[in-house]
Amino acid sequence: MPFGNGMHMTICAQNNCSICCHDREVVLTHEDVSRLLTMGHYEQTFARPSRHGHNLKELVFLGGECIFHRSGKCSVYYNRPTACRIFPMTLQENGPGLDNLCPHCSEFKTDEEFIAASETGLNRIIADVQRTLSTYNDLERKRNKA
Ligand code: SF4
Ligand code: SF4
Repeated sequence: MPFGNGMHMTICAQNNCSICCHDREVVLTHEDVSRLLTMGHYEQTFARPSRHGHNLKELVFLGGECIFHRSGKCSVYYNRPTACRIFPMTLQENGPGLDNLCPHCSEFKTDEEFIAASETGLNRIIADVQRTLSTYNDLERKRNKA
């Protein structure tokens, strides 16, 4: 079920900002892909193999712009990937943190609801990535035994 809160509606919209819809790596969970498929989008058009390999997927950006970014807006806003819902919260080297790519990240920091929802989202992404990696490793083991 989609989740998130109104912080993006206010901070991003008020500042007319779409910086995070450009030149960014957006990991796609299985749930993200299913939601976008349900909307009628073709997976080949919006997902590609992750630069990290291991059967992970990431969102397609063309010319540095997200495939779903149209006329300055997110055309799949209510079904956007989890990583977009929680941005500017990202998983960094030292754990979860606000990404400085967002020029307004200090405004997000003060909202407890946003922080709590972001942690939920981040945990979903981590669980999904771990599941994908474990399936991938099982397949590799079976392939090597064959
Ligand atoms: S899916 Fe929407 S919010 Fe996410 S990067 Fe693309 S346009 Fe931006
Ligand atoms: S960079 Fe920050 S303020 Fe700009 S759209 Fe993304 S989350 Fe919103």
